[in-house]
Amino acid sequence: MEKNDILTVKIEDLTADGEGVGKLDGFPFFIKDTVPGDVARCAVMKLQKNYGFARLLEILEPSPDRTEAHCPIARACGGCQLQHLSYEAQLRFKTKRVADALQRIGGLSIRMAGEEPGEGRDEVLLYPALGMEEPWHYRNKAQVPVGKARDGSLVMGFYARHSHEIIPQESCMITFPEAQTVLQTVREWMRRFGVSVYNEVSGTGVLRHVLARKGMRTGEILVCLVSRKRRIRHENELAEMLRSTVPGFATLTVNVNEGRDNVILGREGYTAFGPGFIEDEIGGLRFRISPESFFQVNSEQMEVLYGKALEFAGLRGEETVWDLYSGIGTISLFLAKKASKVYGCEIVPQAIRNARENARLNGLGNVTFYEGAAEEVLPRWASEHPEERIDVIVVDPPRKGLDLRCLETICQIAPERVIYVSCDPATLARDLALFRERGYRAECAQPVDQFCQTVHVESVVLMARAE
Ligand code: SAH
Repeated sequence: MEKNDILTVKIEDLTADGEGVGKLDGFPFFIKDTVPGDVARCAVMKLQKNYGFARLLEILEPSPDRTEAHCPIARACGGCQLQHLSYEAQLRFKTKRVADALQRIGGLSIRMAGEEPGEGRDEVLLYPALGMEEPWHYRNKAQVPVGKARDGSLVMGFYARHSHEIIPQESCMITFPEAQTVLQTVREWMRRFGVSVYNEVSGTGVLRHVLARKGMRTGEILVCLVSRKRRIRHENELAEMLRSTVPGFATLTVNVNEGRDNVILGREGYTAFGPGFIEDEIGGLRFRISPESFFQVNSEQMEVLYGKALEFAGLRGEETVWDLYSGIGTISLFLAKKASKVYGCEIVPQAIRNARENARLNGLGNVTFYEGAAEEVLPRWASEHPEERIDVIVVDPPRKGLDLRCLETICQIAPERVIYVSCDPATLARDLALFRERGYRAECAQPVDQFCQTVHVESVVLMARAE
């Protein structure tokens, strides 16, 4: 077999990146834009020793799970990888990804909810992924690069898959609808006032990214310009324009990023118009959100996710709880309503400021937030408070998972329960195995679909200390 050979395969599986996998005499090919159940004609693109890549030419027999993508640029854009898969199949895919990771990476045994328990086996009960009724326009945040198209015109949109080419994008099917008007208005403002586009190759120009966020319950909209320069000119004019075009527009901020790498946000910024934050309501609590703070992108599913975390925590009102990687205090405050005392820890200063304000805003006096890295704050706290008993620890780390030092300190503190909220099944599985070696058994796992139409998977796991 060689490059450009044509082959016909039946797609059997989907990778974590959303590529279909079909086998020819046991030799696997990865084929973008195919889904399990398709029979596809493809052209070989690249051959490695144990696998190859092929390009889809034609679907000969569509899978029963295949559906028409809603978005005209779904194939080119890197944002949604699963639009051509029915939503029900997307949820099955996500449940399976968690199952596969826990088994293959974590070495754990799985029992699907509804199945009989295995005899004397140590099994994690896995529930099917919880999805949305309307899995569109759910994102409360848009974060788009600003650049130049090949013809020199101004574009805002998405990076094409695996590239730094920006694909202009007129309407996004998963982001809140007003985001488009925000982008159009910013583009118009740039044209009118000659604001220059940042060039990542030469490191010149001004505007790098535009970020917009909406409080889905309150309707408040924040716009943040990511700028290479410390000061942006004509910002008042932009605020004025946004006020007249975007209903709910509440604040305009500037984030300064002078760096040459591809990190999106810089450390500092200022407010050009309005309060510099928006507020939203989740689970009956009110939250203040700054542009630099992390906030789950799917407000509706966030309630489901944190509701599960709270349920797994099994609080009766007497407990002392830690919430590590606490962001603006969302989970901490959910817990604070049901616990005696809550400690939170977070590394981003703006998020800590939001978290403290949020505790005050909701009249919750039983929460203390520590600013710093969890792997430093927790060991220090533990050595300074050897007598204090902790009943539950919740962790919600970034994709890379838990720092080993943090994980070991959690096990030394030895709470009865550990709740792990994760946006990456692979690092979750790795960490569950480490917890297991240290006496924590994963009891159950619940994937929650926070990122409909994409391959991303969020889940929450309950661990208990073995007796
Ligand atoms: N629980 C929050 C935030 C989860 S996202 C929520 O659900 O909204 C993970 C958070 O961890 C981010 O806010 C990030 O800023 C923070 N973070 C990243 N590395 C950290 C570290 N080493 N120590 C503490 N917090 C960290």
